[in-house]
Amino acid sequence: MEEIKTTPLKVDLEDPKPTWAEKRHIRIFGYLYVGTYIKPGWTAPIKHYMFLCRKHGYVVDYPHGYYSPFKGTIPIKIDGHLSQLYCPKCEEDRRGS
Ligand SMILES: [Zn+2]
Repeated sequence: MEEIKTTPLKVDLEDPKPTWAEKRHIRIFGYLYVGTYIKPGWTAPIKHYMFLCRKHGYVVDYPHGYYSPFKGTIPIKIDGHLSQLYCPKCEEDRRGS
């Protein structure tokens, strides 16, 4: 298995505060790479991205599975396949209700 290097996250996971230039990048490209991060219990570090949720503002998350249209998620190309980003706070709301 290929060794993936971790890089420190450039933003606070819970409360990212993008600069003007980062906001502009997100507006154009849909998301911004913010670092490769490993959580306790994970087997490998995962690339994290910041993007804009219409409800929660700027959030940070990592790609989940395969992109499926009509779900309102953000498509992102990872290792040759189309994955998706979705807001972790919206996901929490959805699970909580
Ligand atoms: Zn959200």
